[in-house]
Amino acid sequence: MTSPWQNVPMPASVARLPRNSAGRPVPASVAWYESDDDGSILVDHDPQLGGHITCVCAQGRGTPRFGEQCPVRQRQYMLQRQCGLCTETIAPSAQMAFVGETNAQYFIEPPLHQLCAAYALQVCPVLHATGDRIEVALTPSYTLAEDRITAVSTDGTLRHRAFPLGSPAASLLGVLNFYLAIPDTPERHVAPSWLARHAPTLLPPTTP
Ligand SMILES: [Zn+2]
Ligand SMILES: [Zn+2]
Repeated sequence: MTSPWQNVPMPASVARLPRNSAGRPVPASVAWYESDDDGSILVDHDPQLGGHITCVCAQGRGTPRFGEQCPVRQRQYMLQRQCGLCTETIAPSAQMAFVGETNAQYFIEPPLHQLCAAYALQVCPVLHATGDRIEVALTPSYTLAEDRITAVSTDGTLRHRAFPLGSPAASLLGVLNFYLAIPDTPERHVAPSWLARHAPTLLPPTTP
């Protein structure tokens, strides 16, 4: 039997995050919804990005929707090498962690500090439940691509296409949604075994 998530030592940078109603820290890249939000997708335009999806949510206001990324914060963290859990910048010399499905060629969730990845794998119910199908890819650097929405089918399904970052044609062909991170030299681990082998050495001192 696994111990409750409250027993997992919380990194100091994670302890500052807003919490959900159960008291769990909410990853910084997660989208928040307020009661007057009708769920419509907001599209903005500027010369640099062309059409792009935007968002007015604020961390800690309303209800977090786990599993859904805020496009504005997702793009900021990807561009600035900020941790998608705690928001702090990942040092240029550090190996960072991407968490996703086995053999993923790209990741939509921003990079994480290894300490934050170890914490999330132990505390997030979804990551915990999917266990062996989740992979931790360690890499010192990554290349970005653009996920753009190029069409809407008659049944409302959005069609996506990936473009190189900053491609001039891309801004004419689709609306920017997320950035995709492609790890440059991924060292891939199955999540539970990475956690078992490496997490103990990563854990922060327990706070009183
Ligand atoms: Zn948002
Ligand atoms: Zn972090």
